[in-house]
Amino acid sequence: MKLPVFPYGGDYNPEQWPREVWEEDVALMGRAHVNVATLPVFGWAALEPEEGRFEFEWLDDILDRLHRGGVTACLATATASVPAWLTQRYPDVLVVGEDGVRRKHGNRHTFCPNSPNYRRLATLLVRKLAERYGQHPALLLWHVNNEYGGYCFCDQCAAAFRGWLRARYGTLAELNDRWYTSFWGHTYTDWEQIDTPTKNGEHSIQALKIDYHRFQSESLLDCYRAEAQVLREVTPDVPITTNLMGAFFPLDYHQWAKEMNVVSWDNYPYYNAEPADVAFAHALMRGLKEGQPFLLLEQSPSQQNWAPYNRLKPPGQLRLQSYQAVAHGADSVMYFQWRRGRGGIEKLHGAVMEHGGSPENRVFREVAALGAELQRVGGEIQGKRVPARVAVLFDWPNWWGLRYSSGPSKDLDYPKVVRAFFAALHGLGIQVEVVSPSADMAPFDVIVAPLLTMLRQEDADRITCRVEQGASLVATFFSGLTDDTDRVYLEGPPGPWREVLGISVEETDALPPELPNGLRWGEDEEHDATLLADRVRLEGAEVLATYTRDFYAGEPAVTRNRHGEGRAYYVATLPEAAGLRHLISLVCAERGVVSPLPDGPPPAGIEVTARGDLLFLLNYGAHPATVRLPEGSFVDHLTGDSHAETCRLEPLAVLILQEANSPREAP
Ligand SMILES: [Zn+2]
Repeated sequence: MKLPVFPYGGDYNPEQWPREVWEEDVALMGRAHVNVATLPVFGWAALEPEEGRFEFEWLDDILDRLHRGGVTACLATATASVPAWLTQRYPDVLVVGEDGVRRKHGNRHTFCPNSPNYRRLATLLVRKLAERYGQHPALLLWHVNNEYGGYCFCDQCAAAFRGWLRARYGTLAELNDRWYTSFWGHTYTDWEQIDTPTKNGEHSIQALKIDYHRFQSESLLDCYRAEAQVLREVTPDVPITTNLMGAFFPLDYHQWAKEMNVVSWDNYPYYNAEPADVAFAHALMRGLKEGQPFLLLEQSPSQQNWAPYNRLKPPGQLRLQSYQAVAHGADSVMYFQWRRGRGGIEKLHGAVMEHGGSPENRVFREVAALGAELQRVGGEIQGKRVPARVAVLFDWPNWWGLRYSSGPSKDLDYPKVVRAFFAALHGLGIQVEVVSPSADMAPFDVIVAPLLTMLRQEDADRITCRVEQGASLVATFFSGLTDDTDRVYLEGPPGPWREVLGISVEETDALPPELPNGLRWGEDEEHDATLLADRVRLEGAEVLATYTRDFYAGEPAVTRNRHGEGRAYYVATLPEAAGLRHLISLVCAERGVVSPLPDGPPPAGIEVTARGDLLFLLNYGAHPATVRLPEGSFVDHLTGDSHAETCRLEPLAVLILQEANSPREAP
């Protein structure tokens, strides 16, 4: 899906402002090179002030003004924040929290996803919007709801959960077996005995909690589907999205992306976020739809208001962060929000237009300059893909299972471990797609599967098959322990991967932070090892590194097994960053997977990404750096400057290089 413009703009809340401000807004959007406004995300109360009475005149007016000003609309369905009249009349719409207490009216995302009244009223509003604006010339795409996320634990959800379980397991006997309810005598004899896992409820059956996550993620997805179905019916040609939030615990985005025409997400890194961690989030979002470009739907132009310390983005940082998103596959750069609100809890959230601000303000000037640049180069970039031969696997049900695992260590943090492996690849300049273990593995020569404790048999088989064909698998400690309902594989870990890895695991030790173990690679290389340490029995694999401490010193810590045409590595513990880099270099070198740069890893502080025939170089470091380029001569799309052999990057610099005599331009 390629939009007719490279969207630049963001959230706009005209319903919070009198109309004289609207005229100024549209004029200033022009000066900032804004070509898209997302609205009216929280407009339900203004669009339907009482049940069945719709007021669209104000939205007609602002959409017409935007269109006259050359601004398109990312038109929101406005169902994220329910009006006060609605919950007053239909209290069942209000969510019940994990504490079992029904929330009162207020805040946002406080609707029960299984409330028939919410579904009915939300889809009615969506139909009215689609019918009224489906042909409006400003309409660019549909923005369903907003940042879906809140779980509900009410009686409606409990009843729907039981229906969902009946459909999933068929019989109570099957459910009891899959959930292993004979534990502590928790066997169910009637479906009605199954309740939602509220704080004062069932927490010893982890399969119930994992299934409750699946169910709530699907319930919210059903809300999205209900809206999207109306939109597809009325406006079949207009793309539909909803804004996701990176590695967001409550929702299994791999299921969500299947329903979206284009993935979009909101990027709000802390001021001290590592560029590799932000790159991970982009790669995760891009990987949701087989590497298709995504939309950066929100970021703050200056500061947030909800972090512990809401630092300003110093000059140049917004541009750098925006191009990082673009380098990793974003086909838009958008903000929250256009104008800082006058009141409410987001009044201190950054915006393009500050309180009492003007186009002379620093943030406005930076936004306008970036808008002008993207207007020039965006079309060249749009639609291009970020090729990757390495997959890092990420799985939401596995995350849920690990979160509720009692043992072996309280420090088990699934995304943190995955990010550590991703960071090693990122530091080497190697492009990565972050994908589901259920994804098609054919495009990948190296498959890195950190901490995949829950390993579904069919995924294990497909990945094993890819190894047989010649790929390399990197599996880690505490993997292949359980099936998708958290039952341990009886043959012990790594379960379905025992043969491909050529090892089995006898015991798993938890390492307190003050008691790391060590890894010895051959004679001279040694690294700390943390978190967990599996004791490995060799069943055909060779030893690459051994433990240095404790009663299992000298036993295998990293192994490699030949399987078919491929190789399968087992990393029995978490090496420190240098150890991970050592391991990943070895694996990638064996498969000929390299950075786009001739010297391999970029200098410290430099990020390199190839997107289509473009080479993005970004400098996050505090110092200038010189990068050796591939053979040939290159033109920087941003400046028009030519570069050959090397190029120098000042701090915060961005280069978008294209080979000057690329084949399609040759005579
Ligand atoms: Zn509910």
